[in-house]
Amino acid sequence: MSKVILTGDRPTGRLHVGHYVGSLKRRVELQNSGEYDKIFIMIADAQALTDNADNPEKVRQNIIEVALDYLSAGLDPEKTTILIQSQIPELTEMTQYFMNLVTVSRLQRNPTVKSEINMRKFETSIPVGFFTYPISQASDILAFKATTVPAGEDQEPMIEQTREIVRKFNSVYGETLIEPEILLPESEAARRLPGTDGKAKMSKSLGNCIYLADSEEDVRAKIMSMYTDPDHIKVSDPGKIEGNTVFTYLDAFSKTEQFERYLPEYANLDELKEHYQKGGLGDVKVKKFLNNVLQEELEPIRARRHEYEKDIAGVYDILKKGSEEARQVAANTLHDIKEAMKINYFDDAELIAKHAKKYGN
Ligand code: ATP
Ligand code: MG
Repeated sequence: MSKVILTGDRPTGRLHVGHYVGSLKRRVELQNSGEYDKIFIMIADAQALTDNADNPEKVRQNIIEVALDYLSAGLDPEKTTILIQSQIPELTEMTQYFMNLVTVSRLQRNPTVKSEINMRKFETSIPVGFFTYPISQASDILAFKATTVPAGEDQEPMIEQTREIVRKFNSVYGETLIEPEILLPESEAARRLPGTDGKAKMSKSLGNCIYLADSEEDVRAKIMSMYTDPDHIKVSDPGKIEGNTVFTYLDAFSKTEQFERYLPEYANLDELKEHYQKGGLGDVKVKKFLNNVLQEELEPIRARRHEYEKDIAGVYDILKKGSEEARQVAANTLHDIKEAMKINYFDDAELIAKHAKKYGN
């Protein structure tokens, strides 16, 4: 069986370091591993519109931003197909058929959708399109026969929903679709990176982000004002690691060899944590180390972004070609789906002959 990746992002803002450790970095590694037969990365504009219907301009302006973030993080259009969701109408058609296989109560139980509904304060005015986006996301994954979805922890319920649709579809209409697997980041901290304000998730919609495109100065300023342990007031006070955003970021980003480079008094992160918990280690020192660690990761990304920014028409061309190629693949899958569901009337000579016979032709 061929190994296929599909994943993506909503163009609701520039990509942040949560996206990077949660998914983007992994995609680049997988792309360069050569182990995958096909890699599709989707800019999910139609999904972004499900909760931004009154603000299409926001979505429109952010497509290029997300594309620039992809390319600057190291996605290579020679190896990876980058596509825009709305340009593949076959996805909408699939969604229509999959909707018949999912119940309203099943959608209501989706914990990610539940928390997003609360976060967006929809209360009882939930757009139907938003409520059903897990089904549309299943179409995105299934259209490309993806086997692997590299994503953050918030995507687990979406993959589970997708797998249920596959099982239901295959049992009703015959083996057609493939059950995908989620590929979570190895580090616990990277699965759901908190915001700089200490809130549970760094998210474009919450405005608590360090963006891949932020300048060196902006990154430093955001780190220096980051949430730590509110009870760690004097340097001599013992500090807490649990819920301390600076340490969570170090868990997600730091490498042991960086201690030798930037903080040689400590051999590794465990030693640094131990000292902080004992007392006698100030937040500023830890934040300065985190700043060095993050800048090292972000510097090459920033540099590549500046290069791609010089040829915006070229970037749009990459998206157009990627979308065209993706459309072919989705059309093939839709053909299989319609054949399995027996809604391929004109291709079915047997059906036509049988009906002709019934009427004595
Ligand atoms: P929005 O607020 O518009 O939903 P978002 O910041 O949640 O935006 P998405 O486009 O929904 O971003 O998510 C894209 C990918 O990034 C998904 O795979 C998701 O799991 C991952 N991701 C998003 N935020 C984080 C985070 N804070 N930590 C780890 N992974 C994340
Ligand atoms: Mg999201």
